[in-house]
Formats: sequence, structure tokens, C-alpha cells
Amino acid sequence: MPELLLKNISKNFGAIRVLEDISLTLADGELLVLLGPSGCGKTTILRLIAGLETLDQGQIFMGETRIDQMRPRDRQVAMVFQNYALYPHLTVEKNLAFPLKVAGVARDEIRRRVRQTAQMLGLGDRMQERPSALSGGQRQRVALGRAIIREPNLFLLDEPLSNLDADLRARMRREIVRLQKELNVTTVYVTHDQTEALTMADRIAVLHEGRLLQVGTPEQLYRDPDCLMVAEFIGQPRLNVISCENIRTAFNLFACEQSISAQLPDSGPVTVGIRPEAICLNEPEGLQGEVIGCEYLGNHYVIALSWRDHNLTVSGSNIQLAVGQTVGFSIAPEKILFFSASSGKRIKL
Ligand code: ATP
Repeated sequence: MPELLLKNISKNFGAIRVLEDISLTLADGELLVLLGPSGCGKTTILRLIAGLETLDQGQIFMGETRIDQMRPRDRQVAMVFQNYALYPHLTVEKNLAFPLKVAGVARDEIRRRVRQTAQMLGLGDRMQERPSALSGGQRQRVALGRAIIREPNLFLLDEPLSNLDADLRARMRREIVRLQKELNVTTVYVTHDQTEALTMADRIAVLHEGRLLQVGTPEQLYRDPDCLMVAEFIGQPRLNVISCENIRTAFNLFACEQSISAQLPDSGPVTVGIRPEAICLNEPEGLQGEVIGCEYLGNHYVIALSWRDHNLTVSGSNIQLAVGQTVGFSIAPEKILFFSASSGKRIKL
């Protein structure tokens, strides 16, 4: 199965630049998630790959073949949308068979592939039902089946789970990943849901206002973000953010100056980022904060602290704290992230 290459692609709608010089390479069989807020251009990238929009600049290759000037149907790409797009008057069996019928595949071959696909997706006993008689998850499975059955070189999935409830979404996430790995089809998956991105992706590409901010594995993006936007976008509860005059002041503020032996860069104003789990409670001698909230999440508590002029979120506590209580805490210096206050770029120590 060929890899996919987007080479310096740009797209305008009228005077509006929607995508700016995006370059991305997908390895054979990789699942890449495009993650970003609404309107950042994710769907437009999928539509450009599928051939439903034309590029203003750049090129798209599948393996060695340039595909951006091919007709959509010659690209061997299958796209699945959030609203399923099933034919309501056709049974599951006929919905699955439809793309093959259109492509002129022989009847016996259609029958074989419909049976195989239905089995793979656990739809075997629903074949004679119409979409209206199916649950949301089953409908989404039929939509996936219609994409799989064409044996495409590339899957494009556009928020395929957003119409499903939370429980079903979690199950379908696993199912899509299992299928994708089983079929080994290179896949671009669009979502604005970071949980989907973190749990499903081989790599995530974070987009903002038509620009690519960072591409990396979920762990890389979480632990080693290139900029404040990526750090804030990924992680639940969100990153704690505090403005400081410079890096040295920040270390003083968090009482970590004694553990810093390295020469600190002359940074200028910085934004300090601290992950909620990087704050360690139960440090009686540490910094003193006041508990202003305590949320129970089953296996741990999320604590809101007021400290000086700041509110800090702390996750992972396994003890319940009372609102109004004073609590000591500390932050390990190596867990603190620094970003330039002007550019938002990460400053690595
Ligand atoms: P969402 O998560 O809400 O689907 P998205 O990240 O997929 O958003 P796109 O649908 O790619 O974003 O849209 C990117 C920008 O391009 C938006 O500002 C949108 O309004 C604009 N846009 C998309 N299609 C067109 C079009 N055909 N004509 C004009 N503007 C468009």
C-alpha cells in the first residue's frame, strides 16, 4: 500500500487563505490524526486528497504517483463522513454492495466481498435491515463497511464518531483502529476531539488557522510540545499557564531555584506551563495553596487551588480535600515547560 505525501499545499476560498503551505508524509499503513479546532482546515485537507477540491499550490503523491490532478474516482480513496451518508431505502446488504455495483464488479465477487465485510464488522445478522432500523453505531459500521469494501489505497475519515454517545464512541475507536491495522490501509482521520486523537493515532498533526503546528506521536506532543498552543490543546485537564518576567523568576516563584544548577538562558518574558499531574500535593513544607474545588472522578480527584494570584488545577490526587483547606504542594523543576511570551515557541532548557 503506498504512502501519502502532501507537499507544500495551500488552498484559498476567495480571498481567504484556508491552508498555508502544509507538508505531511504518511508511512505505509499509518493512521495519522488531523487535530485542531473547528474551522482550522481539517476537512479541506481531506477533500483535497479525495479530489473534491482543487489545490491552489503544492502537490499530492500516493507512492510515486502524483494524484492531485487525477479524477476523484481514479484516486482509490474512500471517505467516511460523520453523518454516515447511507441510502435509507436500501438494506444493509445493498448499501454495502452499492460501491462495487457502480464499479461494475461481477455479481459473485460482490456477494463474496459483502459477506466478508459484514463478518468483519459484525453486521452478519442485520443484512436485510434498512438503516432506520439500526443503532447509530451499526449505521457507522455500515458506512465504514462501504469504504472498506472498495479495498481503497487510502481511508479518509471525517469525524466519523461525533454522532455517537460517549460509550459507543470509545468502543468504535478501538474497532476502527483494529480494522485499520488489520487491513493495513494508510488512513487520515479528522477530529477536534483530543481523546480520539491520543487514543487512536500513530501520529497526530495539530493544525491551527490553516497552519501545521506540530506532527508527532501522541506521547511526543504531550511531553514535548513545540509551542504553547499545542501544549494547551492537548491534555485533559488543561495545562496550567502562568506569565513570568523570565525563566529565573519562574524558578524562584516555584521555589525550585536551589535545584537548578545549569546556566539559564536569558529568556525575556515567558509563559510557564505546568501539567496538572506535575503538581505534587502533600508537601507540608512546600508552597501553600487554598483548595477552591475538589471534583471526584471515580479513581482520583481533580483539585482546584488558589495560590497567590493564580488558579492551579491538580490531577491525580487520591485523597479528598475540603474547600477552604490549605495544602502544601511542590513542582519538580524538570516538569516545568517554558514558552516565549511573544512567539509562544517552546524554550527548551
Ligand atoms: P470543522 O471541524 O468545523 O469541520 P475544519 O477544521 O474541518 O472545521 P474546514 O471545513 O476545512 O475546517 O474549513 C476551513 C475554513 O474554510 C473555514 O473557515 C470554512 O468556513 C472555510 N471553507 C470551507 N469550505 C469552503 C467553501 N467551499 N467556500 C468557502 N469557504 C469554505
